[in-house]
Amino acid sequence: MNPLYLTVTDKHIKYSYEDVNDKITIDKVYNINAAKTLGENLDNFKTKLPDFFDVVVILNPIDVELRDTIVSCGNQPIDMGLTMENLLHIPTVGVHDVARLGLKQAASTEIEHAGWHLDYYGSYSGKRQYGQESLQTIGNGYFGLRGSYVEARESDDYYPGTYVAGVFDQLTTNINNRDIVNEDLVNLPNAQFMTFSIDDGDPFNLSPDVIENVYRSLDMRTGVLTITMIISLPNGKRLKVVTKKVADMKNYHNYALQYTVQPLNFSGEMRIFSEIDGSIENSNVERYRSFNGKHIVVDDTKVDGHRALLLAHTKNSHVNIAVGTRIQCPNTNDSELSSNRFQEKIAQSIGFHVVEGRTYTVEKTVSMYTSLETDSSLEFAVNDHSHHKNFADAVANSMRCWQKIWSKVDIELTGDITAQKLVRLNEFHATVSAQEHVNKDLDASVGARGLHGEAYRGHIFWDELFILPYYTMHFPALTKHLLMYRYNRLNAAKEYAEQNGYKGAMYPWQSAMYGDEQSQSLHLNPITNQWDPDNSRKQRHVSLAIAYNIWNYYNMTHDNEFMKQHGLEMLLNIAKLWLSMAEYDPKTKQYSISNVMGPDEFHEGYPNAKESGLKNNAYTNIMTSWLFNTLNRLLESEPDDVVTENFKRADFTEDNLNAMKNIGQDLELEFNSDNILGQFAGYFKLKDIDFDYYRRQYGDISRMDRILKSEGDSPDNYQLAKQADALMALYNLTEKDFMGILDQMGYHIDDPTKFIKDNVNYYLQRTTHGSTLSRIVYSMLALKVNDTDLSWKLFYEALTSDYYDIQGGTTAEGIHLGVMGATLNVVTSYFAGVDFRGDQLVVEPNFPEAWHTISFNLTYHGVRFYFTVSRDAIIVKADHAASIKVVGKQITLNEGEEKTVGY
Ligand code: BGC
Repeated sequence: MNPLYLTVTDKHIKYSYEDVNDKITIDKVYNINAAKTLGENLDNFKTKLPDFFDVVVILNPIDVELRDTIVSCGNQPIDMGLTMENLLHIPTVGVHDVARLGLKQAASTEIEHAGWHLDYYGSYSGKRQYGQESLQTIGNGYFGLRGSYVEARESDDYYPGTYVAGVFDQLTTNINNRDIVNEDLVNLPNAQFMTFSIDDGDPFNLSPDVIENVYRSLDMRTGVLTITMIISLPNGKRLKVVTKKVADMKNYHNYALQYTVQPLNFSGEMRIFSEIDGSIENSNVERYRSFNGKHIVVDDTKVDGHRALLLAHTKNSHVNIAVGTRIQCPNTNDSELSSNRFQEKIAQSIGFHVVEGRTYTVEKTVSMYTSLETDSSLEFAVNDHSHHKNFADAVANSMRCWQKIWSKVDIELTGDITAQKLVRLNEFHATVSAQEHVNKDLDASVGARGLHGEAYRGHIFWDELFILPYYTMHFPALTKHLLMYRYNRLNAAKEYAEQNGYKGAMYPWQSAMYGDEQSQSLHLNPITNQWDPDNSRKQRHVSLAIAYNIWNYYNMTHDNEFMKQHGLEMLLNIAKLWLSMAEYDPKTKQYSISNVMGPDEFHEGYPNAKESGLKNNAYTNIMTSWLFNTLNRLLESEPDDVVTENFKRADFTEDNLNAMKNIGQDLELEFNSDNILGQFAGYFKLKDIDFDYYRRQYGDISRMDRILKSEGDSPDNYQLAKQADALMALYNLTEKDFMGILDQMGYHIDDPTKFIKDNVNYYLQRTTHGSTLSRIVYSMLALKVNDTDLSWKLFYEALTSDYYDIQGGTTAEGIHLGVMGATLNVVTSYFAGVDFRGDQLVVEPNFPEAWHTISFNLTYHGVRFYFTVSRDAIIVKADHAASIKVVGKQITLNEGEEKTVGY
């Protein structure tokens, strides 16, 4: 191994290593520049290092108990292990572990640990802490439980939210004489609350400054979140508190907590408190706090020995909710229980005598039921439900389930421990957001921010397009359940189309409980604190995303039953929408679609136009054409009776069918003289913008829309984009299909490689990546033009976007599930290169230089394929006989046979 040895002090970092060529030991010192931040110092330090190390050893750790890599640096304790791993993407170990295990073993133990854990060392506050809580959320598809300290009450530093999929509620707030109605994913009663008191003191009140030391570690392999905290009270008493939380992955109504206290320098009386708090409100998102957020009405509170029950309902959607807890004290016989019922909450506590140095544990199991998925009495369900015997039982249960889940979903990467951790984190949160056996009982889909926070009010967007393929690869039935959420709202989509003068089904840009439009018409600009008009609902392309998801699911599963019963009916209704929106222009002899917006939300309309909306958005028109083609082909292959029956249900006529054939080929696009595809009609008349000028003024210009509006200007005036738009169809479709559609529309491209390159360059120069979805789409587009450096840079920024909260505070309000899904897709479909969009799997890797191998499996047409892809070989195995195309060669696989193909 090639180790880098570090001795870290407040003033400098001493480092030594053996030169690989001369075999002599080099000793150097990096002086910490007090005028710079620690981060800047470390970035600078990195530039001094050669790049041949494969492990870092910390020679002077100060806190061996929490981690063997904690040092004091720049006058603050930091986990140099986490820091160096994030910096160099190689394992970092402490000298004690090396002495105990040997360097090789210590390094491989750490590779294993880092790849499976999301750890934070130290106490944080504000949005940073909120963001970490989002990322340490545990859950099981039914609920998400934010990773706050259990002692935390809602404050600017902590937000212990709980969400159950599909539980929404509408409230009206009168602002400036306007009634504004918002539908929120409801923050449910907080049942994770626990704290302690010593002797006759008040219950411990958590704040960042009373935490002496803390390590929070989410074990993604088992689903257990462990918080180890050393607390120093003003009276000099110190204690260690270890909290563990686990969501039951199987009995999805439940979660369990274990709370262990250890008095470090005192003996006396202690009480452990537990609450179910129904007085909570929705207040995770600062800019929504002026809106009414009190959705929960508590109906009753009950206590029965160690059990407590809170019954409530949501104010306007009338969802009944029961939350039950049971507390127990397994390791003291001599405990005394007290219970108090209040109007909106129940508090219980257990008191016992403690002796210095000993540990005492209280366990709590929690059950949540709602009337949405439970037919029987909720009280009965909570009480009847066999709680876990104890916390260990809940953990064992969770481990068993996670083991099964990981055996399917795990993407194993070698050569980069940071990417490994974050890829697994994305998979972890995809699972927290939805699970096959849970969603079969629910009428819910996945929100853009998961079950992790309240941004976008928990609504469901086109972001499904970025995450559904991942679900389909591993749990096809889960995708079906999520698509059923859309089917169940087909009537609402038809009404929405009708209200707007169209036919067929128009799905809302933001969807929640009922499937009506939940986008606001005003949006708060945080720069000016003013409400600007928000026309984002004109992104009618969300219906195309749903059609695309239906098709993709069908293509990967051949689920004819779904297509016959639900899929085709949705596709026909969506097609009718576009037929009714397309208008023939006798001048150009082509069809146009007007009054829409593409994915680039910076463009809501034409400069100074009275009405919002754009004409012939390239993405919309190309995907409409794709839909018509796909549907035509599908109708040809479906049995007559299925077609007839679905035509009837969707009121789809032969005329519609003929119109679809014509219009799909004749939708208008615009190109400039350099063959750049215009984002919409008239795009090239817009001005170019001087990004450097704004960068100098504002630094971060990702939200140029807000900047321009704050200056009384408008993004509508310029050629600039929030995210991929004109080229977005190249993410959805294969290059061949994309080019085929342009050709069919009469826009023949002689040199597709040059065309894509020119277009990617053109739009990249004008894109500010104001959405987390932007970089990952461009990362894949950069691969298409062989710019592997750019692709890698954008990929890494996308992969770390929530980890580093690159939007400066939005992770506080929930994860970004879309970019998480898209990142997984880029790893398997583009880096490993396994493309599932055609009628067989096609493998064409674009293997990243920094990685050694990517291993994963997926289900396609009912066959499980196992891949390990490296720089020069693809190893593939299937659990049934199958045929796939690998780097241009047709390969036949026998059941269980492994084949290696070099490339
Ligand atoms: C993006 C949209 C996305 C939404 C929800 C916006 O910032 O521009 O494309 O659907 O966030 O994630």
